[in-house]
Amino acid sequence: MKESILTKDLYQSMGIDQDVYGFGEKIEQNLIERFKTIDEAAEYNQLKVIKAMQEARVSEACLLGTTGYGYNDLGRDTLEQVYANLFHCEDALVRPQITCGTHALALALLSNLRPGDELLSPVGKPYDTLEEVIGIRPSRGSLAEYGITYRQVDLLEDGSFDYEGIRQAICHRTKLVTIQRSKGYQTRKTLSVERIGELISFVKSIKPDVICMVDNCYGEFVQRIEPTDVGADMIVGSLIKNPGGGLAPIGGYIAGKKECVENAAFRLTSPGLGKEVGASLGVTASFYQGLFLAPTVTASALKSAIFAANIYEKLGFFVAPDSKEERFDIIQAITFGKEEGVTAFCRGIQAGASVDGFVTPEPWDMPGYDSPVIMAAGAFVSGSSIELSADGPIKPPYNVYFQGGLTWQHGKFGILKTLQEMKNCGLIRL
Ligand SMILES: *Cc1c(COP(=O)(O)O)cnc(C)c1O
Repeated sequence: MKESILTKDLYQSMGIDQDVYGFGEKIEQNLIERFKTIDEAAEYNQLKVIKAMQEARVSEACLLGTTGYGYNDLGRDTLEQVYANLFHCEDALVRPQITCGTHALALALLSNLRPGDELLSPVGKPYDTLEEVIGIRPSRGSLAEYGITYRQVDLLEDGSFDYEGIRQAICHRTKLVTIQRSKGYQTRKTLSVERIGELISFVKSIKPDVICMVDNCYGEFVQRIEPTDVGADMIVGSLIKNPGGGLAPIGGYIAGKKECVENAAFRLTSPGLGKEVGASLGVTASFYQGLFLAPTVTASALKSAIFAANIYEKLGFFVAPDSKEERFDIIQAITFGKEEGVTAFCRGIQAGASVDGFVTPEPWDMPGYDSPVIMAAGAFVSGSSIELSADGPIKPPYNVYFQGGLTWQHGKFGILKTLQEMKNCGLIRL
């Protein structure tokens, strides 16, 4: 018999039954308008990337790498100009020697602060790994060890900025204000670029020379503007998230005012050397191509997150952001209320992967966590969270954090797999 070319039949042969498929189709039908808006933003951001590359005169020669010291690395220097053009700022540092997002943030902080300075977070507790960078949790080499103090002003109950608290917290020693765009794995809402702009204006009205830095992780290309468009002096992010487009195998970036970026360069390499050294090895082409794909990859991740929110909200689970909310990052949280929900969801995501799809994830005691954690990731780039992935700490309220999807079609398949797994385990009824 001739093989069927119906999509639903292929789904069925890959373990998705008719009920699950039908449920997904109905949800997707209602998202057409939403997806259109996302595609329009992706179109805008795609043009922005092409414009930035054309204006920097990217050539075929830029795609080659250097070894050794990496003097006069055309590809590296041009890529940094591309990032500066793209983010409408003076300069950028985009390097494979920046190992991850935490490293990029630590670099930006340790290079722009001096002993006696104070760092302020006006948006509450920063991302977990930054606690050790700052010294909130003691660590070797932290800002605290260098005599740099830290102050934090929490958001108000309703999620708004505590303007009065911020005003009182800013003092003559306040040198740098750090603003985290994404909520990360907290319960507060992610900040829109517009809200970040309001906060920066307020901070600058009190102390014009303070450096405003934005942790831009998970936020790039979700909106049409970036924090550097609303007054940020420096934005920082990871290339194995949005701007790497799934192709960058490593790396981080810092973009912003020339002085801030140069400070970071002198810290990354050495005083006196700065941006002049740092071979790009063989990764330059993937940095360029990844950035080129980043707007549509981010759009796919957004669609996947919205699809998941709509499916699980419909089934009665608490989802954040909710099914209708405007999005400012690519992370989706779903509250399952029991361990079996978390593990079934993660098994589904894993089963949807093209790499390691045959593996069954199990909770384990990860270093640095106070409860076992289950992680699902079948990624081309290890640990990449722009690729379809999910993780959940095994403790109440039994949340799963879900993100990524290099293509919407893969995101959809992964989410249908979670639904099938939940159904097979008797955790949901369609
Ligand atoms: C991922 C992330 C980081 C840290 O990046 P790593 O690459 O995991 O070190 C910092 N801040 C936010 C908001 C993030 O999402």
